[in-house]
Amino acid sequence: MRVQIGFETMRILVIEDEAKTAAYLRQGLTESGFTVEVCANGGDGLRQALDIENDLIILDVMLPQRDGWSVLAALRRAGKPTPVLFLTARDAVLDKVKGLELGADDYLVKPFDFSELLARVRTILRRGPARQEEVLQVADLQLDLLRRKAVRAGTQLELTAKEFALLELLIRRRGEPLSKTLIAEQVWDIHFHSDPNVVEVAIRRLRAKVDEPFPKKLIHTVRGVGYYLEEQR
Ligand code: CA
Repeated sequence: MRVQIGFETMRILVIEDEAKTAAYLRQGLTESGFTVEVCANGGDGLRQALDIENDLIILDVMLPQRDGWSVLAALRRAGKPTPVLFLTARDAVLDKVKGLELGADDYLVKPFDFSELLARVRTILRRGPARQEEVLQVADLQLDLLRRKAVRAGTQLELTAKEFALLELLIRRRGEPLSKTLIAEQVWDIHFHSDPNVVEVAIRRLRAKVDEPFPKKLIHTVRGVGYYLEEQR
């Protein structure tokens, strides 16, 4: 059954390590008129996702090398708005929330019917590139994600790329204490043996720009845990 002429030239990247599922997706999507590329691990998948323009990425969560979360986070950190549909084997609410918070567009719980997957794929493709928030705001602090500009109380802050990424993470997960390990993973992509000093130094620099010139402090320390950003009244 060949349908949806409008999608014929669309490229879908499937990042899935289970050979049977990958083959099933490749066959079904190819028969539906898509151009399909399959990667069997998170590392290759991320490289393909960054190097090649895809119209959609179907991303498994449990993957060798780097998991789906890490791929998705790295993709969004790199500013890639390619829509992502993630596949989770567990029907866990936490997984869904996490995926959507990280910037995925939709999810499917395995096992799924191909017709269901195809319906989701078409809905996402009709919607176009990821609907990301363009400006994040907490109190008088604004982060313009498209123009990569940070402004507090009308004053533009001069942030390095890493400081911007760190501030974006803190704002996206506002109110939530984030461990130094998590921050290191998300901002520096360091997975093992991360040096907590890197995060401490970066937070100190960020505070000097974001908080010190202003009466109201937004970045807070949780001793022995990490940091969070919140407007405290
Ligand atoms: Ca898997």
